[in-house]
Amino acid sequence: MTNIQAEDSALTTALTQVDQAAHHLKLSTGSVEMLKHCKRELTVNFPVRMDSGDVRIFTGYRVHHNTSRGPTKGGIRYSPHVSLDEVRALAMWMTWKCAVVNIPYGGAKGGVLCDPHDLSLRELEGITRRFTTEITMMISPDGDIPAPDMGTNPQVMAWIMDTYSMHKGHSVPAVVTGKPLNIGGSAGRLEATGRGVMFAVREAFRTMNWELQGASVVVQGFGNVGSVTAQTAHEMGCRVIAVSDISGGIYDAEGIDVPKLIEYNRANKSIAGFPGTIPQANGQLLSLPCDVLVPAAMENQLTRTTAPMVQARMVAEGANGPTTPDGDEILRAKNILVLPDIMCNAGGVVASYFEWVQDLQNLFWEESDVTLKLERIMIRSYHDMDDTAKRMNISLRTAALVLGIGRVADAHQTRGLYP
Ligand code: NAD
Repeated sequence: MTNIQAEDSALTTALTQVDQAAHHLKLSTGSVEMLKHCKRELTVNFPVRMDSGDVRIFTGYRVHHNTSRGPTKGGIRYSPHVSLDEVRALAMWMTWKCAVVNIPYGGAKGGVLCDPHDLSLRELEGITRRFTTEITMMISPDGDIPAPDMGTNPQVMAWIMDTYSMHKGHSVPAVVTGKPLNIGGSAGRLEATGRGVMFAVREAFRTMNWELQGASVVVQGFGNVGSVTAQTAHEMGCRVIAVSDISGGIYDAEGIDVPKLIEYNRANKSIAGFPGTIPQANGQLLSLPCDVLVPAAMENQLTRTTAPMVQARMVAEGANGPTTPDGDEILRAKNILVLPDIMCNAGGVVASYFEWVQDLQNLFWEESDVTLKLERIMIRSYHDMDDTAKRMNISLRTAALVLGIGRVADAHQTRGLYP
């Protein structure tokens, strides 16, 4: 990690967090250094023939952060902004996240520098199949299991599974999770992250003795995580007063009809212009007075510039790394309860774990079983985090890091240093 990082880069945030937790855990310098480094990093540059007939070179990454608790797990992101440092940070957060919810994985992440919106389906498939081939040495059902992230979806996972399977000569569904149902996906996986966010929010409301019915919710991002969070909040009786996507936001003080908005978004590929709502600039959305603000788009949204304007009672981090350390300090000073990403959005990886288990056993569960098991793990993890925070008199974020990093350091200690 020798690169010079921007002040608010995801990696700077991730490394600062390790230092904070290590201080509370009294870890040795050697342990902290190990936890701050990624175990394996692969950068690939590969050619893809575009629809125009031209060949374009794409760059992609796959990073394994830590394997002390099991095979590595983490999404693949298609974005024009992805960088090796960002992937390192995201891989690190996956390690802590899997440990916080106590599932037997280490963390990984991957990404390809591209804008999926500018690509045809055929080009997207070409990129995915060639990228999978390039990272074949990094992925396997018992070594490293990718999943969807920003800009990728079940179809992309299907192409990864198919490409890997073609190389092996037989179907290997357990090499990737977040697949479509008809090729070994799990019922309830698509909805798991957003549902998990709201299970965490509900538990926090219970703990604080706050009333969830009628609580106002603002969601930044209306992709997989944001749309399901909004839908689940709506089902739990909350008032979703504003949501946004890359094109801007919409606002309705009475509460948006989320199921209708989901249909509208499916038809129009954007939430802009949803009838009965007022347009809202993305910057303003974060500063709306509300009970729960859910950043569910991307990292570095609540910073030293934007955090002072937040007027929420609680921030529930659906995205990975949406709050910078400075932003976090400011929210804490404003007495805003922050449910940290590595606990709050862990529902996705929990359901991915269930999908992997089902694939390995060739035995599939009902959606109600998946959601019930997910709910139990989210509730248990929330209280593990909350108990740690109360016992050590620290914030929920530091508690989640202490819990996750502590479990990883423990596993490393138990296994011992090879050779
Ligand atoms: P997605 O690509 O499905 O959706 C992203 C959404 O954010 C889109 O609606 C996009 O328009 C919107 N967006 C992008 N930039 C924005 C901006 N500046 N302002 C407002 N909206 C903006 O991605 P996703 O899978 O929902 O992931 C979102 C976040 O959640 C990422 O940080 C991801 O790492 C994290 N996450 C995803 C999962 C999962 O299971 N998909 C699990 C855990 C964490």
